[in-house]
Amino acid sequence: MDNNTIDWAARALAAQADGRAFIGGRRVASASGETFDKHSPIDGRRLGAVARGALADIDAAVASGRAAFEDGRWSRMPPAARKKVLVRLAQRMVECREELALLETLDMGKPIRDTLAADVPASARCIQWYGEAIDKVYDEIAPTGPGALALITREPMGVVGCIVPWNYPMLMASWKLGPSLAAGNSVVLKPSEKSPYTALRLAELALEAGLPEGVLNVVPGYGHEAGEALALHMDVDAIGFTGSTRVGRRMFEYAGRSNLKRVYNELGGKSANIVFADFADLDRAAATSAGSVFYNQGESCNAPTRLFVQDTIADEFVARIAKHAAAWAPGNPLDAGSPMGALVDEGQVKTVTGYIEAGRREGAKVVSGGERIHPVAGGCYVAPTVFDHVGNGMTIAREEIFGPVLSVIRFRTEDEAVAMANDSSYGLQAALWTSHLDRAHRVSRRLRAGTVHVNQYDDDDITVPFGGYKQSGNGRDKSLHALEKYTELKTTWIRLEA
Ligand code: NAD
Repeated sequence: MDNNTIDWAARALAAQADGRAFIGGRRVASASGETFDKHSPIDGRRLGAVARGALADIDAAVASGRAAFEDGRWSRMPPAARKKVLVRLAQRMVECREELALLETLDMGKPIRDTLAADVPASARCIQWYGEAIDKVYDEIAPTGPGALALITREPMGVVGCIVPWNYPMLMASWKLGPSLAAGNSVVLKPSEKSPYTALRLAELALEAGLPEGVLNVVPGYGHEAGEALALHMDVDAIGFTGSTRVGRRMFEYAGRSNLKRVYNELGGKSANIVFADFADLDRAAATSAGSVFYNQGESCNAPTRLFVQDTIADEFVARIAKHAAAWAPGNPLDAGSPMGALVDEGQVKTVTGYIEAGRREGAKVVSGGERIHPVAGGCYVAPTVFDHVGNGMTIAREEIFGPVLSVIRFRTEDEAVAMANDSSYGLQAALWTSHLDRAHRVSRRLRAGTVHVNQYDDDDITVPFGGYKQSGNGRDKSLHALEKYTELKTTWIRLEA
C-alpha cells in the first residue's frame, strides 16, 4: 500500500465501520437504541455511531453466553476441535490484516506500520498459540495411595467478562480471548469506548471461523455503564480486566458487591530502567530506552518511563537520549513512514500536557519536546518529551502519564538505584543495563516487578507471562499460566475397593 492508498482505503473503511454490538452471533443495536459518535484522533474525522451498551445489553450478552456454556456447544467440544476453530480464526485475522490494521489506526491513532507489522500479527499469533496449546495440556492424578483415584482437573469457569483498554485494543482483547476461549468458556467482551471497532470485527471473524453462536459476545459502551454492568453481573464467573489501577480497584469492589467473581487485573505501570556506567554499548541502551518509551505514543503500560542513569555517564547519556527522541517525531499515522502517531483523544492530550507542566513547575528540565504539535490539522499529537534532573518524588516520576514523556533520574550507587526503582506503587516491569553478569543477576532479583529485562527492553513472546507486582495487578496474561485464570480446579475423589 502506498500512502495515498492507505488514506483512501481508510476513508472508505471509516464510512462503513460497524459500531453495533455483537450478541448471540449477530449484530444488534443497543436495547435502548442509543449510540455515541466515535471520532478518529488522527484528524478528528467522524468514524461512525457506536452502540451505547448498558445493563439490558449486558444481560442479553451474558444470557447468550450462559446458554452456550450450558448446552456444551463449545465448553464440551473436544480440545482438538476447539483448536481447529481458534487456528482458523487466527488465519482469518491474518487474511484481514489490512482491514484490521486500518480500523485500529483510525480508531486510536497508532501508526499503520505498527498495526500492520505488530498488532495484527501478534494478536493472531496469540489466538493461534492458545488454540494449538489447548489439546496438549494434561490434567493430574494425585499420589493418594492404592485406595483411591484422585483426579485433579481444570474446567472452564462459565461466562467470563473481559474489559479491555484502548492502547492495544486488539492485542489486549486477544490476550483475554485466547486463553478464555481455548479453555472452553463463553465470553462477554467490553472494549474501550475509545476503540471499539476491532473487537467487534473479531467477533464476526470468529463466527466465520466456526465459533458457535453465543460463545463470544461483544458489547461496546462506556465503562460506568456497560463495564460496570458486566463486572457487577451475578451470572459472570470471572472478570479479566486490563486498564488503569483506579478502575482495577473498582473491579474488586464490584466482585465484593455481587457474586465474588474471580477478578484478574492487569493495571498501570511506571517501570524503572537502570543504566549502569559499566554497560558496553551505551548507544544501543539509549536507542532502546527512548524507543520503548515513545513507541505507541508512550501509551504502553510497561513503558520504562523512569530512566535511572549512573551519574558518571549521565550528561553523555541524556544527550544520546535526546538525539534518539528526535527520531520519534509524530506524523500522520496513516503514513507508513510515521514512527509515532496520535494520542487517543483530546482528553489524553490534556492529561499529558498537564503532566509536562507539572514537571516544569516542580523543577525538572525539559531537554527535548515538551509541547503539543500539529502534524495533522485537528489531530491529537504531543512531541516526544525528555525531562532531565527529575527527582523520584516528583509527580512525573510517581504517576503514570501514559504519553510520550520520559523522566531521567540520576543515581550514584547500585543500592541507591534499586531503592529508587522499587520506590513506586507500581511493579509491572523493570530493566537494567550492565556488562557484569553478577550485577545482572543480583539487581534483577532485587527489582520488584513482574518482568525484568536485562540489556534489552523490546524482546517479547507469547510464551512468557505478562503482569505486575504491587498495584500493577494480579494474575498474568500470556503463556500457559493465563489458563489458570479462566479455569476452576476440581478434585474428583474415587474410592477404589481392594
Ligand atoms: P481505564 O481503566 O480507564 O479503562 C479500561 C476499561 O475499563 C475500558 O473498557 C473502560 O470503558 C472500562 N471502565 C472504565 N471505568 C469503568 C467502571 N467504572 N466500571 C467498569 N469498567 C470501566 O483504562 P484505559 O485508559 O482504557 O487504559 C489505560 C490503562 O490501562 C493504563 O493505566 C495502562 O497502564 C493500563 N494497561 C495495562 C496493561 C497491562 O497488561 N498491565 C496493558 C494495557 C494497558
